Amino acid sequence: MQVHKHDAIIIGAGGAGLMAALYASKGGADVAVVSKLYPTRSHTGAAQGGIGAALGNLDEDRPIYHTYDTVKGGDYLTDQAAAKILAENAVDAVIELEHMGLPFDRTSEKRISQRRFGGHTRNFGEELVRRACHAADRTGHMILQTLYQQCIKNEVKFFDEFQVVDMIVVGGTVAGVVAIELGTGEFHIFHGKASFFASGGWGRCWSVTSNAHSLTGDGAAIALRRGVPLQDMEFFQFHPTGIYRMGILITEGVRGEGGVLINSQGERFMERYAPSAKDLASRDVVSRAIYLETRAGRSIKNRGYVHLDVRPQTVNRYFAEEGRDRKDFIDEGTVERKLPDILDFCRTYLGVDPVKEPMPVQPTAHYAMGGIPTNVDAEVVIDADGAVMPGAYAAGETACVSVHGANRLGTNSLVDLVVFGRRGGMKVAEYVKGADWTPLPADAGGEIEAEYERIRGGSGKSRPGELRALMQQTMMDNVGVFRTEETLQKGIDDLAELRERFRTDLQIDDKSRVFNTDVMEAWELGCLLDLADVTARTAYERKESRGAHSREDFKKRDDENWMAHSLIYQTGEMSDPSYEAHFDKKVDLSLWEEEIEQGIPEDQQKFRPIERVY
Ligand SMILES: Cc1cc2nc3c(=O)[nH]c(=O)nc-3n(C[C@H](O)[C@H](O)[C@H](O)COP(=O)(O)OP(=O)(O)OC[C@H]3O[C@@H](n4cnc5c(N)ncnc54)[C@H](O)[C@@H]3O)c2cc1C
Repeated sequence: MQVHKHDAIIIGAGGAGLMAALYASKGGADVAVVSKLYPTRSHTGAAQGGIGAALGNLDEDRPIYHTYDTVKGGDYLTDQAAAKILAENAVDAVIELEHMGLPFDRTSEKRISQRRFGGHTRNFGEELVRRACHAADRTGHMILQTLYQQCIKNEVKFFDEFQVVDMIVVGGTVAGVVAIELGTGEFHIFHGKASFFASGGWGRCWSVTSNAHSLTGDGAAIALRRGVPLQDMEFFQFHPTGIYRMGILITEGVRGEGGVLINSQGERFMERYAPSAKDLASRDVVSRAIYLETRAGRSIKNRGYVHLDVRPQTVNRYFAEEGRDRKDFIDEGTVERKLPDILDFCRTYLGVDPVKEPMPVQPTAHYAMGGIPTNVDAEVVIDADGAVMPGAYAAGETACVSVHGANRLGTNSLVDLVVFGRRGGMKVAEYVKGADWTPLPADAGGEIEAEYERIRGGSGKSRPGELRALMQQTMMDNVGVFRTEETLQKGIDDLAELRERFRTDLQIDDKSRVFNTDVMEAWELGCLLDLADVTARTAYERKESRGAHSREDFKKRDDENWMAHSLIYQTGEMSDPSYEAHFDKKVDLSLWEEEIEQGIPEDQQKFRPIERVY
């Protein structure tokens, strides 16, 4: 196997990977980015709505308000010190992106323009605040292009279309990763002092998802197989507005601009579920409301979807009812200018023109709150006490810092990428200066090559596509927006059967090596099955409802027993793994504790867990 040697190996070229690569290289490290996609095709490029930062360009705003919203939005599972870092660093991270040349939309005073997003408020929940900085509805695309240019300028080395399939761990220290060059099918070893996972999420576990085909959770699955626990896997966010049946995302920015959700009775039903935030209540609340409307027989044509209406006459009618300033009223031009990509999607894929008709939407699997546990410097931690795995780093959606707790607020993922990507990049630069090289073991890559050959040789009866569809359906039906012990048990049983077929009965038609997407997709399916399994298991064990995890048999949040992160470990044989979940990692409640220390009376404490909103 060909061996490449670099101080730092970054796995993934989305926002998190590129920011980490940029800062590690600025700090003097020799950096290689290994990515299965060409960098600018990463899912970060699909992010539409915006990046949250308390710039206060249009409304009064402060980072502490952003911190509060992040903690509350996460239903108090958010680590409070990390949320504070996120909110404080967001401000200069956005300004830094602007200085790198990111073409943000502007206010009439030429400042960065900001829009409303669910759960982002002023003065600790008083009213919605305009905090999401945006470049039309292509914010992520602009971030990705900007960071990629900066990395090229800084001479970061890119290995595009190389898929990482294993991590090399020697005596508890990470010595690099193993990758397949997709164009040749050859194995390569990337020997590094630091290996940094920025490989994105795993929305492809579900059948209706906003996530790209490539989001199969490879990095998280690899880490799990090599001894790293995964944290808070039971929390997976469903975004309320995916295009009916296709799952393609319609950004929350549509509601930020005034769009409303309407049921088959023509009713703006969110007024009932969340009287003050209404359509901009947090995503878990809105997704549940759509399901409840469906169950009550009020979805459109009884088909499980509702309408998202951003037609100017509808929006302006509600604006008038709410007593909004006439200058906030919108016309067709506003919608065309602020949401060009959304209009394009709907016109192309649905034949629906959103300025003339409402859009059919349903909840879509969107975002992994859980993942590879890290501290605030992106170092991977492997137990409840925060012990670090030397040489291992992670940031972005694949990681769990945890700033999103049980439910992420819109626009906070892009902030997470740039803030913790940057901190992680700096930490890596510092680490590689002092660390020694860990020698590679003689058999590095051997085990995964054997697994690849096993898959390639598959001559059973189960096609990967069929197994994937069955997995996605059982996850949708049993491990979705609402869960019970019964559905979760069904999910676990179905997955066990699918895993068995994956292990013993795989059928692969393409036996070649060059760009063999059959084999790679089968390998990715293995990752998805592992992640689906740990999601169902932790969801089964968490007997409360919190954020995106809604148990119909345990409807209340239970801070007394469950105010803790889950960590799930792989145990047993590599070829026949079992899992063990622990719920003993403490949630960092330092801001609340500070309030108590300062003698602030209970009813004025901002960071004290308050009742869950349904
Ligand atoms: C449609 C959509 C809209 C969104 N809108 C917003 C928004 O407006 N605001 C917001 O804050 N968040 C938004 N999000 C969420 C946010 O965009 C993502 O969480 C974030 O971009 C993830 O970034 P990342 O850097 O962690 O990973 P990604 O951008 O997903 O990149 C993953 C990278 O890892 C690489 N990779 C994966 N596996 C391997 C492997 N095995 N070997 C090598 N490389 C690998 C890929 O090639 C890719 O480069 C949105 C998400 C979606 C799906």
